[in-house]
Amino acid sequence: MAQQDLASLIRNIPDFPIPGIQFKDITTLIGNGPAFSEVIDRLHERYRDRQIDAVVGIESRGFIFSAPLAYRLGVGLVPIRKPGKLPAATYQIEYQLEYGTNRLEIHRDALQPGANVLVIDDLLATGGTIAAACDLIKMAGGKVAELAFVIELTFLKGRERLREHNVFSLIQF
Ligand code: 5GP
Repeated sequence: MAQQDLASLIRNIPDFPIPGIQFKDITTLIGNGPAFSEVIDRLHERYRDRQIDAVVGIESRGFIFSAPLAYRLGVGLVPIRKPGKLPAATYQIEYQLEYGTNRLEIHRDALQPGANVLVIDDLLATGGTIAAACDLIKMAGGKVAELAFVIELTFLKGRERLREHNVFSLIQF
């Protein structure tokens, strides 16, 4: 399936979740079997020989892509979750949003020391979420091999904020 075809399966929802935001809806992509397989196959192809020790997925849309990818790579899946969801001892990080703050958590014992970690989320916008995730991975003793996204909103320049990391995206808008 061509890049263009994958992109055409992403639906634009105006004014969601608040007025003025054009939300990229991935449900129309993952609801299409060949397209969903293509996304996972392409990520697998890119990372199969990169000695990845674990895939880290960001709640919640990141889980949709990180779980099948971890399965294909034959490595563990480590969730980064919203506050109060992980049951054992966690590291926590608070980060700034346009209005207010958000918090993310990872289990303290989720990663082996020095683990080579691939981080997956559905979409890169400003990069705030994934930058916080990288801090958590560092706290947990992991090393970020690459940050991978299904979609990148290039006009928000999230990549510039993530300069110290390798950043990859399948589809750019
Ligand atoms: P950032 O922190 O890079 O500004 O925002 C990225 C995070 O917000 C990701 O976790 C992503 O799931 C979510 N997000 C922001 N805008 C959109 C969007 O238009 N579509 C989707 N699917 N997720 C979004």
